[in-house]
Amino acid sequence: MSALGKLGAVRVGQGWDIHRLVSGRPLRLGGIEVPNERGLLGHSDGDVVLHAVTDALLGAMADGDIGQHFPDSDERYRDIDSGELLSEARGRAARRGYRIGNVDVTILAERPKLAPHLPTMQRRVAELLGVAPAQVGIKAKTAEGIGAIGGGDAIAALAVIALTARARPTAVRTRRRQRPRARVRRA
Ligand code: MG
Repeated sequence: MSALGKLGAVRVGQGWDIHRLVSGRPLRLGGIEVPNERGLLGHSDGDVVLHAVTDALLGAMADGDIGQHFPDSDERYRDIDSGELLSEARGRAARRGYRIGNVDVTILAERPKLAPHLPTMQRRVAELLGVAPAQVGIKAKTAEGIGAIGGGDAIAALAVIALTARARPTAVRTRRRQRPRARVRRA
């Protein structure tokens, strides 16, 4: 068996999210609070980074999306720490035998300057996913003044994740394939 075979299949997921910036809300991004005069509007805490990562994780498993699992019509999720949503998605992945390879995130924000906060976000996202910080990339870019993001009215995030499926013993797979064939022959 090849090295890749022992690791199991690699599955890739992508996610993205955008929320409007409004006065009177704390800015939650990547599981931490970033000092800013405005914060992201949302039914939850509006953390676009954690929402994008959660959607990427669910997408890699072909397990729906964040809106399906945590609907904004549900009062349980009002102002919820989005870390709880990501932890729930991580639990779903673990129960299905998936392991997280790496995550890569790009934040699109005109302001505030995010560079000083990226290492803290990286550690927090890694902690929420139960992986090492070296498995989590987080980058921030501006939108060059273009559109709603460029005008400072919204922040968006993109995420990509790679999972490896738990390898199953070959014997189990072979037995499962043979059983239905034998039944067909007898009938
Ligand atoms: Mg969202």
